[in-house]
Amino acid sequence: MSISLATKLLIGLCGCFIVSSALAQGVPQVASRSDRKWAIAIHGGAGADPSKWTDQQIQVRLDALQASLKVGKDKLQTGAQAMDVVEAVVRSLEDNPLFNAGKGAVLNEGGDAVLDASIMDGRELNCGAVAGVRRIKNPITAARKIISETSHILLIGEGADQFAEKVGLEMVEPNYFKTEEQIENWKKWKERDANAKKSTRVDPLAVDDPLFYLGTVGCVVLDTEGNLAAGTSTGGLLGKKFGRVGDSPIIGAGTYAKNATCAISCTGTGEYYIRNVIAATISAKMELAGRSLKDASSEAIDKILPEDSGGLIAVDSKGNIVLPFNTPGMARGAADSSGRFEVALGKDGAK
Ligand code: ASP
Repeated sequence: MSISLATKLLIGLCGCFIVSSALAQGVPQVASRSDRKWAIAIHGGAGADPSKWTDQQIQVRLDALQASLKVGKDKLQTGAQAMDVVEAVVRSLEDNPLFNAGKGAVLNEGGDAVLDASIMDGRELNCGAVAGVRRIKNPITAARKIISETSHILLIGEGADQFAEKVGLEMVEPNYFKTEEQIENWKKWKERDANAKKSTRVDPLAVDDPLFYLGTVGCVVLDTEGNLAAGTSTGGLLGKKFGRVGDSPIIGAGTYAKNATCAISCTGTGEYYIRNVIAATISAKMELAGRSLKDASSEAIDKILPEDSGGLIAVDSKGNIVLPFNTPGMARGAADSSGRFEVALGKDGAK
């Protein structure tokens, strides 16, 4: 249908008015990159009860969280992209033997470190993941390379290791990941397992036992361009059997990012997170049911997941950060462009 002359005149007049009033009031300046909002949250695993640790054990973990959070903050302040920040921060946590990811990962039934990781870009839902890898120094980087180098999402086992080698990632001997502390933990687990009834089920973990400290790592970011990204990396559960894979490399369960809603990284007993597709459910609650990030994630942690099963970190497109958990503690940190910069391990702001 053609537009009448009167309508055209009206549109023209409105246009002139908008342009002239913008000129009269001064067109708002576009915020420079460094003025724009950014936000980041990290976790170093849920489960352990920090009230059972020594001051020194607490301090080294808080220092480690601060150092990795600073890696992210420094990058975001200079306008780095969300995916680059997530990768860099998760790499720093993978390289730190205090956490159950990369070096220092927990050992499986056979006494080997077998690693899982995933990363997701909130812009177009591009994502990559590796599971059951044994030789890639930084599994999060391999997960990211899958996005740029293949048309796949999830690569597993020896194939994933070969892929990483082929695209030139840093490879290590499997022993690189095994620390003295994790070998000791594995020995204790082995004794206990030998005494336990034979079962093919994954035992619910005694999460107050420091032996089972779940130290998976994750990072979620809102960058200065308004893009979201999330990443998670883990050695899984101590003594895991039969090639067990948890939620960390499962997009929608342990990791999710969508610019329209939020970026999420989970930690805890992965079987529950997979069953309830926790990360994607939170995003869907926001998108389809209009829930805030806070409500959607508390519903997931308090109503969907069983008690003592874990926690998560998330950031939404406005820069709101949430760090809920239903375990005695979760190693975590949050920073944003308003000056927030904090790390904690226990409940209610306790260290
Ligand atoms: N979610 C991880 C897994 O089940 C473990 C953790 O977060 O500590 O493999």
